[in-house]
Amino acid sequence: MTRHVAIVGSGPAGFYCAEALCKKDPEVRVDIIDRLPTPYGLVRSGVAPDHQGTKNVWRVFDRTAMRDNVRYFGNVEVDRDVSVAELLERYDAVVLAVGVTEDRPLGIEGENLPGVYGSRQLSGWYNGHPDFSDLDPELRGPGIAVIGNGNVAIDVVRVLSRERDEMVKTDIPDYAMRKIESSEYTDIYMLGRRGPAQASFTTAELRELGEMTRTVAIVDPAQVPDEVHIDDPKQQKKMEKIVETLRSYSLDRPDDKPQRLHMRFFAAPVRILGEDHVTGLEVAVTELVDGRLKETGETYVIEVGTVVTAIGYLAKPLEGVPVATWGTCFENDAGKIADRLYAVGWAKRGPSGVIATNRGDSGDVAAKVYDELEDGGRAGGDGLAALLRERGVRVVDYAGWGKIDERERGAATEPTPRVKITSMADLLAAGE
Ligand SMILES: Cc1cc2nc3c(=O)[nH]c(=O)nc-3n(C[C@H](O)[C@H](O)[C@H](O)COP(=O)(O)OP(=O)(O)OC[C@H]3O[C@@H](n4cnc5c(N)ncnc54)[C@H](O)[C@@H]3O)c2cc1C
Repeated sequence: MTRHVAIVGSGPAGFYCAEALCKKDPEVRVDIIDRLPTPYGLVRSGVAPDHQGTKNVWRVFDRTAMRDNVRYFGNVEVDRDVSVAELLERYDAVVLAVGVTEDRPLGIEGENLPGVYGSRQLSGWYNGHPDFSDLDPELRGPGIAVIGNGNVAIDVVRVLSRERDEMVKTDIPDYAMRKIESSEYTDIYMLGRRGPAQASFTTAELRELGEMTRTVAIVDPAQVPDEVHIDDPKQQKKMEKIVETLRSYSLDRPDDKPQRLHMRFFAAPVRILGEDHVTGLEVAVTELVDGRLKETGETYVIEVGTVVTAIGYLAKPLEGVPVATWGTCFENDAGKIADRLYAVGWAKRGPSGVIATNRGDSGDVAAKVYDELEDGGRAGGDGLAALLRERGVRVVDYAGWGKIDERERGAATEPTPRVKITSMADLLAAGE
């Protein structure tokens, strides 16, 4: 008899888990369910459009999707169209690979003002995610503050800083490019609460900030340490490169290019100013005392009309599946949530790590799923398809995604890779 596994979420974690299960046993039937008609999760809708090389990992996932024992159920949302309990009735195991969906709030006054956006919203918007394609962010100047010191903050800064010529080889939707080039901000402030040696961005991403044609990256030389001392030798090397890159930015002149990126460290946002929209951001100067972050008591205001937060994400519970008390993933024990129910990827460990991190992690959970997998005589994908038909859900299968993909590529002219379809109605029509 056949054993059936449902994987909810077609991002990297879901696909890596499917592949690992198929490698263990090609007889296991694996169904991948996603709320969008389009697969690949944040590879399509989070990774910045000017990082097409990174997005190319979809080819690996495509090979998995094409396996005979793998089936894709797009446009099927768990908790809207089907519940986890109903999946457990039909599958021998259910793996939740739904990622994390909420922007972590700053928790400061003014954060609900128009003109404050989370990086999840903004990166979804400039990636054509149908939930965010109507966002139409204000992008008001003279300055834009991007809060955070990780790679996502750098992505947001870079996309907001580039000009059209730098984006022709990307799939940024035209509405986003037009908005960015017609907005009149001249200064972007990237703020980190801690120092350069504590920043979590990587050297390659940081270096790209020095290669933009319209925007010059500048750093206050007083904020760049002469030396860094970290116990871990690998981390020491990485930090030395980061500090060296920042030192080179500290030599740049603000008038070298028409737009400036100010990288500010030891800067904690304390209040967003404005009556009916953002007019400024009050920032507290911080310092590290014995490794602990403290405010010095000094504050300053930067004149910004838009604030983007890139300080992490929170998970959303599904019916019967609670989120851990710290908020960033489902409650689970090394991937196990309950009998026959598992989590992988960001849903399992919270929003950390790159695409490749999910590979090993999903492999570990897949091994556990496989070890515990028993044939319960369940109906699997045919049972799910029957239920969805009964409920009038329009399932977009992998062939349907193929039609969307073909339409998007066909609409693009070299060197643009694709013109993304960005509304649900148009995606569903293209996937017919
Ligand atoms: C803005 C941003 C930029 C990034 N850039 C890079 C980068 O350049 N390089 C890199 O290596 N990593 C990058 N990452 C990290 C990388 O994207 C993650 O490590 C990875 O996507 C996590 O995979 P996942 O499968 O757990 O989640 P996701 O990729 O988020 O996939 C979750 C999937 O679940 C689906 N889903 C959610 N809820 C439901 C539901 N209720 N029912 C059905 N389906 C559902 C979603 O539609 C989605 O397809 C970036 C992350 C972000 C946020």
